[in-house]
Amino acid sequence: SDEKTILSIQSYVTHGYVGNKAASFPLQLHGFDVDGVNTVSLSNHSGYSIIRGHRMDIQEYETLMEGMRLNNFLPSYRYVITGYINNADIVRRVRDTVNEIRTLREKEGKKLTFFCDPVMGDDGIMYCKPEVLEAYKELIKFADVATPNYYEASLLSGVNVTDMTTALQAADWFHAQGTSNVIIKSFRTKEDPQNLHFLFSTMATGGKTPQRFTGVVPYHEGRYTGTGDLFAASLLAFSHQHPMEVAVGIAMGVLQDVILSTRNEGGDGTSSLMSRELRVTKSVQSLLNPANVAEVKPM
Ligand code: ATP
Repeated sequence: SDEKTILSIQSYVTHGYVGNKAASFPLQLHGFDVDGVNTVSLSNHSGYSIIRGHRMDIQEYETLMEGMRLNNFLPSYRYVITGYINNADIVRRVRDTVNEIRTLREKEGKKLTFFCDPVMGDDGIMYCKPEVLEAYKELIKFADVATPNYYEASLLSGVNVTDMTTALQAADWFHAQGTSNVIIKSFRTKEDPQNLHFLFSTMATGGKTPQRFTGVVPYHEGRYTGTGDLFAASLLAFSHQHPMEVAVGIAMGVLQDVILSTRNEGGDGTSSLMSRELRVTKSVQSLLNPANVAEVKPM
């Protein structure tokens, strides 16, 4: 069966493209039913100085899940994907949701794949409370695929990721926790500052030691928001049809294409906050069949 159903637990913003706003459209284009749990409903992402809106609390999460459970929606999800949560109680409860869905589906002989993006911070700045980090250390054990940025990989593993050697050590920490696939999405090295390097490490092949893959994408000056969310969504979409290492290269390509088109439209990622918003809706081609697919090499 070709079940294209996703429970997507991420942020919602009215303006701009992060969280479910960045992930839903691409996934829907790929033909997925994307059922969103909006962990926050905010006017915009937190890079803007003004921000208004609402953050979900644990009661609200439980009420929503009760509705899902009583309607028997939960066993219908082939995938769970999580992004920005920033609430330790909810992070802890997501583990129960994942286990509940997995158990329900196992009874029907069906699989669940859980993609966990442990969204906590970027470039040395942690934007969540320490208790959220502790909660992710537990949740990550249940993830089939983890997609941390280098800083999140460092926070979780305790290894300061600055190059390939340390990225490999951090990936091993994830495997030791039980996460079979980990993608450290990007890190810049002293030797090669014009590129971003990535690492995909997997135990899924069944051997005793992980299989590693790496590659590079050109680094574009500036900071873009929603890149991690669009990457994780694209990775899920392409991994539905391709082996994970192939999906990694295509998803990297989506990001390259979309960042380039954002820059072409004047979004240089530095001049104004508006310019950092990814042009997610501008190129269907880039989302479905990107031009700049990255080469993914076995190590
Ligand atoms: P998270 O949502 O986990 O916090 P993030 O957005 O910080 O993630 P990154 O590793 O920075 O995660 O970005 C995800 C992907 O987006 C990278 O793998 C890369 O392909 C692309 N990307 C992000 N920023 C740039 C950039 N400045 N130049 C080129 N590619 C970029």
